[in-house]
Amino acid sequence: MTPPKKAPGNKAAQTASPLLPLRDIVFYPGMNAPLFVGRPKSIKALEKAFSENKSVVLAAQKDAMMNDPAPKDIYQIGCRAEIGQILKMPDGAVKALLTGMERVRITGFVNSGEMFLVNYANLAGGAAQASTAAHSLHKIARTLFQKYIKLNRRLPGDAAGQITGIEDPSQFADAVAATIMLALEDRQEFLEMADVKTRMEKIIEKLQNEIEVGQIERRLQNRVKRQMEKSQRDYYLTEQMKAIQKELGKGPEGEKGEFGELRRRILAAGMSTEVEAKALKELDRLEQMPPLSAEGTVSRNYIDWLLDVPWKQGTKDNLDIAHARKILAEDHYGLEKVKERILEYLAVRKLVERMKGPILCFVGPPGVGKTSLGKSIARAMGRKFVRFSLGGVRDEAEIRGHRRTYIGALPGRIIQSMKKAGTKNPVIMLDEIDKVSSDFRGDPASALLEALDPEQNSAFNDHYLEVDYDLSEVMFITTANSLHTIPRPLLDRMEVIHIPGYTDGEKLAIARKYLLSKQVKEHGLTEQAMAINDGALLKIIQNYTREAGVRNLEREIASICRKVARDIAETTSTKKALSARMKTKTSLGPEKLVDYLGEVKFKDDLAESRDEAGVATGLAWTELGGSILKIETSILAGKGQFILTGKLGEVMKESAQAALSFIRSRSKRFGLPGGFQNKIDIHIHIPEGATPKEGPSAGLTLALAMTSALMNIPVRRDVAMTGEITLRGHALAIGGLREKLLAAGRAGIKTVLIPKENETDLAEVPDNVKEKLTIIPVRNMDEVLKIALVHPIGARAKKKAPPHKPVRKRLRPQRPQPGPPLN
Ligand code: ADP
Repeated sequence: MTPPKKAPGNKAAQTASPLLPLRDIVFYPGMNAPLFVGRPKSIKALEKAFSENKSVVLAAQKDAMMNDPAPKDIYQIGCRAEIGQILKMPDGAVKALLTGMERVRITGFVNSGEMFLVNYANLAGGAAQASTAAHSLHKIARTLFQKYIKLNRRLPGDAAGQITGIEDPSQFADAVAATIMLALEDRQEFLEMADVKTRMEKIIEKLQNEIEVGQIERRLQNRVKRQMEKSQRDYYLTEQMKAIQKELGKGPEGEKGEFGELRRRILAAGMSTEVEAKALKELDRLEQMPPLSAEGTVSRNYIDWLLDVPWKQGTKDNLDIAHARKILAEDHYGLEKVKERILEYLAVRKLVERMKGPILCFVGPPGVGKTSLGKSIARAMGRKFVRFSLGGVRDEAEIRGHRRTYIGALPGRIIQSMKKAGTKNPVIMLDEIDKVSSDFRGDPASALLEALDPEQNSAFNDHYLEVDYDLSEVMFITTANSLHTIPRPLLDRMEVIHIPGYTDGEKLAIARKYLLSKQVKEHGLTEQAMAINDGALLKIIQNYTREAGVRNLEREIASICRKVARDIAETTSTKKALSARMKTKTSLGPEKLVDYLGEVKFKDDLAESRDEAGVATGLAWTELGGSILKIETSILAGKGQFILTGKLGEVMKESAQAALSFIRSRSKRFGLPGGFQNKIDIHIHIPEGATPKEGPSAGLTLALAMTSALMNIPVRRDVAMTGEITLRGHALAIGGLREKLLAAGRAGIKTVLIPKENETDLAEVPDNVKEKLTIIPVRNMDEVLKIALVHPIGARAKKKAPPHKPVRKRLRPQRPQPGPPLN
């Protein structure tokens, strides 16, 4: 770059000067560059200029593509240049060496025919008189430019050095602009700036931009480079590892070592082609991974799971019905209907090769033998048995597994059970299917449905396993305490078998024949050493347990066994003495129970209590079987409010309302004053904790308790009842009759009132239950009152006045109205 010589100044502006229109380039003062001229008009202008004063005006044309621009197509501001030399090229073009001198404004076109001749003037302010401001800006710009050069290595080093060395701010600005401004418009705009300071600011701004862009580019480049390096390094290391493994004989090629073993196991597992392909693919992936990496562990676990679930191993079904009958009898007492039903099921299974039959569902209170029946079925058929509980399962993933992307993911419980069973046709028992709930984590019931449904379970999809698994040979048995919380679609696919609970007599037989021998054996005792008599067993049943099943009974027996074992161990020192002691019959009667089990836990309520006004006994059906439900009512002076305490559900409140409405409808006959209910508060309390689930059916009991309290006539304590009530006092049918009657028997009730509509259900109730009870079907509340109150309404109490006086005074029945006799 040569510093411009002194400009010819305005003098030159007086004579017309040739003009070269430039395509794609804007010439700056100070620029030193060859120019190739091809257009005849331009060649003429160049030659004229060269022959005269070697000065030519250069101005960019607005559109570079234009071949023959008119004056309006040429920018008004250009640069005057001096021609160093010109050289004719063989193709007729001319190469001219030009040096930019100063900014000029074209003031007019003199000729634009055979060549452009223009008048021009130096651009105002273009005298490059740099101000102090421009000087300080110069310093900044220089530093930035140096930075820019470092980032942008495209600029040749010496050119960069030359530019940095320029002392004159104006020339410096132009030189920098010539190197960094690329777009034609930008360059032209810069050319049009006469003022040095403005130009300086412009290049500073431009440099800052360029530097920023350069820095970003460099960062990106570095990142890409690093990534490339890493993947190259990984590739290199993996290759090396393979080589090392090959050396050690662990490589896939050798088919020795761990991977070879896995491959062989996969091929031998009996998987379907699809699953096998998936397992092999995963193995290939595993081989590529560095050992002990997190990814490798996940992959390895997955392959292990695929290998651990059974694909072809199975047991051969024993469908011999006589054999099954024998086993069921061996393991369980009674339950004849249930056993028959199971045998029928097995029989059909025998006839139909692949039965798409319903799933068995055992419903009943805890401890009635649901699980052990399942085990017996498995034993009878020669199948493996696994069970898991669904109680509290809310998350679909517990059934169907977590996707492998989760850390610590596992298959769902069904696939886990299959692994545990180790055969593809086990009996799987799903306990507590009535306790499945669903929330935002998906619906486990629908996953269960897919597993249980014979139509679709040949391709069960576990999220972890990712491949379809065939569950069609599995025999599913479910258990539940009650039916009403089982999701409907599940219930539809199940064949429900009720196991209601046992009478005391049955419990005694179960204890004697099964539980006792089992526990005696488990505790290393003998029948002689622990000869417990029936009296003692019955006492345990009645006073130490109160349950529908026999679980606690078994626990109490186990507890006695433990203590007897301890006694024996403590009192015998030699082996001989021990075996002699084991053979000596030591009988254990009811009187000894206190020593082993402590004070009785359940007293005979009836014997202790007395007939009371306002207290009636209902019968409820809960998840734990039947139970009795004491309802206490008291009448207080008040404003017609209901106070309900104890665990009363909404249904119970409605029953109480209905009972009150009934009493009001009979108020005349009962001799109660009109509007009596507005002067009293009725407090109803149900002390015992059992929360009835299927509606307590306590309408009759509530009405009885309330009537008894209002009329102050005690209720017979040996009478219990069940049934809802209509507003007119009719008794409505109830469910769970067997369980309720069993509970009544357990509690020592003598008379049970049941709705007339339930009379036909009595056929279902075992005779030994019915024998102990007087069961009276009733149509309406009037019948209940007649039987359950110690004396009829209206009749005078013979005994001394019962307690609770306060209300009685105010509510003393008025003289009974003559009305139709009470039935
Ligand atoms: P559930 O699954 O209904 O809660 P389990 O099957 O666990 O009850 O039974 C509890 C215990 O009672 C087991 O030891 C079982 O063998 C025993 N049991 C229950 N019913 C009978 C029966 N009818 N005969 C013999 N044992 C029984």
